[in-house]
Amino acid sequence: MTEPDPPLRHLSTNEAGVLEALLRQDFVGAEELRVQARDVMARPGCGCGCGTIHLFPQGDNLPASPAQTPVRVEGQFPDQEGQWFGGILLFLASGQLAELEVHSFGDPLPMPEPDQVLWFLRTGESTGIPLPSRPE
Ligand SMILES: [Zn+2]
Repeated sequence: MTEPDPPLRHLSTNEAGVLEALLRQDFVGAEELRVQARDVMARPGCGCGCGTIHLFPQGDNLPASPAQTPVRVEGQFPDQEGQWFGGILLFLASGQLAELEVHSFGDPLPMPEPDQVLWFLRTGESTGIPLPSRPE
């Protein structure tokens, strides 16, 4: 037996802020994702207690993004004790926003405040290239 899916809800302030901060970065396919993010609903995306959400862009004929999944821009942030680092990944499905994942190297973490997140461009090398937190 599976529980019925919970209803779609609006994004929390932190969820919307983290998604917006990620999409403010410049990468191939970001433009289309910004359009999808103008009206997007969410549903809890994980049962472990972390802040991962599934994303549901609203509207017809939304442009598909050619970005890779997960998107090459990813975030890192410290937990409350400033020790363990958590990370943010954005997954797409058929070029549409699909999941904003909060992962951690310790206990499950909630969605961080946008100001806590440092952004990196994944290169295939170890840590990636640091990106400005507030690109113009
Ligand atoms: Zn989880």
